[in-house]
Amino acid sequence: MSQTAPGKSHRVGMTLMQLMDKFSTEAAAAEWFESIFWDGKRCCGHCGGTNTHETPNRKPQPYRCRDCRKYFSVRTGTLLESSRIPLRKWAIAIYLCLTNLKGVSSMKLHRDIGVTQKTAWFMIHRIREAWLGDGGSDDFGGPVEVDETYVGGKRANMSNARRKELAGARSARQPSPASRTTTRIRSGRKSSATWIPIR
Ligand SMILES: [Zn+2]
Repeated sequence: MSQTAPGKSHRVGMTLMQLMDKFSTEAAAAEWFESIFWDGKRCCGHCGGTNTHETPNRKPQPYRCRDCRKYFSVRTGTLLESSRIPLRKWAIAIYLCLTNLKGVSSMKLHRDIGVTQKTAWFMIHRIREAWLGDGGSDDFGGPVEVDETYVGGKRANMSNARRKELAGARSARQPSPASRTTTRIRSGRKSSATWIPIR
């Protein structure tokens, strides 16, 4: 039986079953990360250029940038870089980290998704860095409810044109989905929302 009373340590917007269905294959997880990071406009993780193409047989990487001529994937320039951890595991780890109010221990993640504890620790740190930013703090002073999660590429890796486009498209209060997480912070009876940008 599930309870949804306030203060419940585990809030679920999507059931575990739905999560498993959504990320049933690596391709499905890659597609999801691409839609989150690139917001419909594929962008090179090295230089931020958008003049890109798919590579035959997706080798050595699925995409290539015509501007800097480098190969890249959805991992390039993001928290998923330089790890061979399957994207499905990343997606599920992000879900677990952001839906557990008290955080997830590396021991729990290690057991839940079948990676070593050291890898789980690495993943948790990457997720926390991306979520909170360099100067971030996890002291929200009350229960935090995660409504949606957006994990984006680093702005530093984007081209000036792309940055301008993102800045022009949305106000500072509503950054692009490609570079934000949103959490609803509840305090007492009042419910307010704040954007937590990802660097
Ligand atoms: Zn490039």
